[in-house]
Amino acid sequence: MKQKELGKLLLKELKQLGLRNARMDQYGYVTATLAANTKRATPVIALIAHMDTSPEISGRGVKPQIHKNYSGGDIVLPGDRTQIIRPTESLELAKKVGHDIITSDGTTLLGADNKAGIAEIMDAVHYLIKHPEIEHGTIKIAFTPDEEVGTGVKYFNVKKFGAKYAYTMDGETLGEVENETFCADTVRITFQGVLIHPGYAKGKLVNSVKIASDFINRLPKDSISPETTEKMEGYVHPNGIEGGVEKTTVKFIIRDFEVEGLKKKEEFLKGLAEETTRNYPRSSFKFEVEESYRNMRYVLEKYPEVVEKAMEAVRLTGLEPRLHSIRGGTDGARLSYMGLPTPNIATGGHNYHSKLEWISIQDMKKAIEVVLNLVKVWAAAK
Ligand SMILES: [Zn+2]
Repeated sequence: MKQKELGKLLLKELKQLGLRNARMDQYGYVTATLAANTKRATPVIALIAHMDTSPEISGRGVKPQIHKNYSGGDIVLPGDRTQIIRPTESLELAKKVGHDIITSDGTTLLGADNKAGIAEIMDAVHYLIKHPEIEHGTIKIAFTPDEEVGTGVKYFNVKKFGAKYAYTMDGETLGEVENETFCADTVRITFQGVLIHPGYAKGKLVNSVKIASDFINRLPKDSISPETTEKMEGYVHPNGIEGGVEKTTVKFIIRDFEVEGLKKKEEFLKGLAEETTRNYPRSSFKFEVEESYRNMRYVLEKYPEVVEKAMEAVRLTGLEPRLHSIRGGTDGARLSYMGLPTPNIATGGHNYHSKLEWISIQDMKKAIEVVLNLVKVWAAAK
């Protein structure tokens, strides 16, 4: 409901801008259309950002601070002076001397993830309305709820929305275009023991709590875990355990950039469970795999122009375009599989999901330029 409050505000602004069909539906999706001003046949493209912020830290009562003309060095946040943004830790900040930096006061999130994206889309649209000489096709806008809890596009009607390609404005470092996400599965391994009254259990009882514990202890300590991997490496991550003497279930999330890598990791876990139960006669285990999501690259590589045009827009803005892989999922990944290919473009925000979030006003202006160039590139396409 709090997201809908923001939705109402955005709806009002979209209407004030004069956008057609601006509306918010029962699920909180705010959508609008900027009509084409060109007679050329251009595909309908969409710009998407999410309205919710990370539930890990409060985004209520944000007191934004503008640190004008940043002179380098640490930024101490005034509401909680233990919260310090250091250029030695936030390496991008070191490059922003002379910029105006926006932060929270250190007691809350800033919420630039993803309100920076919303602001940039709004500003780009405003600019296009003020500058009718810029030729563009039909542009759809969507502001979505619940991205941070992974259900942002659950009720999104791709067909009714009517866009052919879309871009989420939800990345971080300027210049980055994100075309890849993890492939993700959930695995549940249930160890079955034998339950007998412990007073009369000699030679009969098989304790599944001990089997599960033995199994977990066999996991590699120096590889394939979130705490030992980075960049293009995948992992297996036990993130829950539940049970008693008779039955214990260990839950895992499995991540890899390729489906084959995902399957290999699952086979590895299965082998490890087999090896473990071999030491406990009369025990057994059940191995269940549930698909969570797949790398959006598998879809995007069928429509290479979608990512290419984003790279071109970045280049036209005077930035160096870089492809980047997301060690997680995005709404765009789900949308891609729902029939709307959607790579992710940078907003310029940093330190997401933390009280140390920051963004430069000058970088936001660059991100807006990227959007405007993207619109131009699509309008000029054959
Ligand atoms: Zn986000």
